[in-house]
Amino acid sequence: MEMYEVIERCSLCGLSKSRRNAVPGEGPENASIMFIGEAPGFHEDRQGRPFVGAAGQFLEELLESIHLHREDVYICNVIKCRPPENRDPLPAEIEACNSYLDRQIALIKPKVIITLGRFSMAKFFPGASISRIHGQPTKRGGVIYFPLFHPAAALHQPRYRAMIEEDFLKIPKLLAELERAENEQPPAKAEQLSLF
Ligand code: URA
Repeated sequence: MEMYEVIERCSLCGLSKSRRNAVPGEGPENASIMFIGEAPGFHEDRQGRPFVGAAGQFLEELLESIHLHREDVYICNVIKCRPPENRDPLPAEIEACNSYLDRQIALIKPKVIITLGRFSMAKFFPGASISRIHGQPTKRGGVIYFPLFHPAAALHQPRYRAMIEEDFLKIPKLLAELERAENEQPPAKAEQLSLF
């Protein structure tokens, strides 16, 4: 992806000075599911890949629980460079990176967008509380938005862990519902044929 090179050279915010590698994201360009995390951590910054540390390992386990692998889905973050000491991203950093995420969504055209943690949730559910809306899918413009806790938070807090594990198990049903909705729509070609 050409955009990856742009992100790798990006200097729109101060994080470009402290990063080792930008972390644009990875996964098939035709992925149906897009996961959006928060920001790269230590290992992600080293490797230039998203979710390759402990949180990534847990994300892979969660994917396995629904018979998926990380290669099946697209994975990226709200911001593409690691904040020093893994601090929360600043509003200006989120703003600077926002158009990259918008372009990724426009290119991949996922059917399901799964937000991990409150920073990616806030892009689609501004002002919402993750404790209230986690695990509740919302369909807008043919895309399902599904907010989940961040796996890093869930990894160390048994309460959140149980919730993210439970919420994950809803994903196959969401996909099945989407497929059913798609099959119910008459194919555009057939419609056109009937006109002539
Ligand atoms: N946490 C995130 O939000 N993103 C990563 O890529 C890794 C950990």
